[in-house]
Amino acid sequence: MDKIGITTTVPIEVLLAAGYQPLDLNNLFIANDNYDSYIDLAERDGFPKSSCAWVKGIYGACLEQGIDEVVSVVEGDCSNTKALIEVLNLKGIKVYPFIYPHSHSRSDLKVAIDKFMSDFGVSLTEVEAFRKKLKPIRKLVKEIDELTFKENKVTGFENHLYQVICSDFNGDPNSFKKLLKEKINEIKMREPIEKKLRLGYIGVPPMTTDLYNYVNNFEARFVYNEVQREFAFPRGIEAENIYQQYYDYTYPYGMEFRLAEINQEIQRRDLDGIIHYTQSFCYREIEDIVIKESLDIPILNIRGDKLNSLDSRTKLRLEAFLDMLGDLKEVED
Ligand code: SF4
Repeated sequence: MDKIGITTTVPIEVLLAAGYQPLDLNNLFIANDNYDSYIDLAERDGFPKSSCAWVKGIYGACLEQGIDEVVSVVEGDCSNTKALIEVLNLKGIKVYPFIYPHSHSRSDLKVAIDKFMSDFGVSLTEVEAFRKKLKPIRKLVKEIDELTFKENKVTGFENHLYQVICSDFNGDPNSFKKLLKEKINEIKMREPIEKKLRLGYIGVPPMTTDLYNYVNNFEARFVYNEVQREFAFPRGIEAENIYQQYYDYTYPYGMEFRLAEINQEIQRRDLDGIIHYTQSFCYREIEDIVIKESLDIPILNIRGDKLNSLDSRTKLRLEAFLDMLGDLKEVED
């Protein structure tokens, strides 16, 4: 099976139908013990210090892990990715573009997905067959999410991990399915986690995944991971076709659509506060203005750069924020 790298979530059903093993370059980057060597490689090759660590990491992972074909999102993701494609092309890597149309119109998205299928020489019937195969896996991941916020048996990190893996199913959907079943059996045996504060995490997945364990030191836990949950397509299980599934995906489209989903989850999961993570040098940092204006809940914006662990200043800010949420909760109770 040929490997193909992806720079973000794309209609993976198309790649599987075409006989590829899709690998999310973000996961290859951040899961590597020497993740910083990928950033160093990119900077040695000319990527500016003042550019996003994810883009540099994707580039390094691609080169170091011998990936010679990549799918990249050129609309609905960031302009950094567009420049990344130019450099990958220069290195002899074949890049297939995919777009999530800004218009967020069903007809434009259908054109984009049809073109994607045609680029890989697969039919709608073949793609739908793979969508059907992936549904039981998506259901298991949805179950983990529900065990997180309804039964309080899953940690915030586990919730993050199993949903974020859905961008590429670890390159092996069958093994991932087996792993999920075993994990769910183990989770069901646990006692509920008792913490006073229920937190939501919004924004791109963090470089600093120790965030989840850090808040466990206090009376708080994450019960919602916004973008990671989008990667898992919980609504896609019920979608009538691939077009509907990727139309309902909030992350690549405008803020209004994304905020409506976040608002719904704030109510459904009874959240007390939100951590909005942004990546240094990412255009999404500016979205924090809209998010704070639009959501009626305390929000703390934290920022990551190249390190995969929280710095002491961010830890202090988190502690102060959680203290404040704890006081608020006592007043409300
Ligand atoms: S963090 Fe922002 S700048 Fe970096 S790859 Fe993601 S969207 Fe692009």
